Amino acid sequence: MKDIKNTVDSQDLINNWQQVSKQVTQVCKRVDRQADGVILLAVSKTKPADMIATLAQQGQQHFGENYLQEAIEKIGILKARSESKDIVWHYIGSIQRNKTRDIAEHFDWVQTVERDIIAKRLNDQRPAEMSPLNVLIQVNIDNEDSKSGCLPEQLPELINTIKGYERLQLRGLMIIPAKADTNAFARTKQLFEEIQHSHPELNGWDTLSMGMSGDMIEAIANGSTMVRVGTAIFGVRDGL
Ligand SMILES: *Cc1c(COP(=O)(O)O)cnc(C)c1O
Repeated sequence: MKDIKNTVDSQDLINNWQQVSKQVTQVCKRVDRQADGVILLAVSKTKPADMIATLAQQGQQHFGENYLQEAIEKIGILKARSESKDIVWHYIGSIQRNKTRDIAEHFDWVQTVERDIIAKRLNDQRPAEMSPLNVLIQVNIDNEDSKSGCLPEQLPELINTIKGYERLQLRGLMIIPAKADTNAFARTKQLFEEIQHSHPELNGWDTLSMGMSGDMIEAIANGSTMVRVGTAIFGVRDGL
């Protein structure tokens, strides 16, 4: 992403977004997939509410945030504005136990659930007047010590527990693979399909969140249904 500047004006931002959207469509066509089978999640962490509003006005619907305090502030601002009130908000950061209430009360999706205690708290704390919280289980597909996510062998038990939680809607899996692992996408797709076949009762099981700015093309070619793209749309993040 060398050609993307640290600060982008709104025309650059719109151009970047159009470029990425076009790439998604083109890859889908090349690998014989329906373009509407892949959701583009714009990862807006550290970026101001105005940039999000600019893209919402262009038709971008899904946004992802990692830092809770910052996210809640921006969600508050944007829900009050007509062009951005219908944004679908995804929490993609790590989850501390004492932050589950904020996530349950402000987000539509959470992609980083990795253990039962967190799922249980989200279920208990999801407000009754909101629709069930959409949940992806994050899988540590490469078994890395440093990575978040449950291990593949922990999935069966976690799925059986979460599917019993009425305020959660289990939608699928999310991964952040190790850079060197060229076959993580294919293995995760296989895992995703095995679960689909062995759990026909999971009606909402339809989402495989994998692929970021640097590898979204390979991810889509390997069956991703949601790519999480930050840098290629918003530019390089300060301090990262
Ligand atoms: C920041 C982040 C992204 C976006 O990464 P880019 O390389 O900027 O596209 C995607 N997924 C998660 C979980 C992230 O934290």
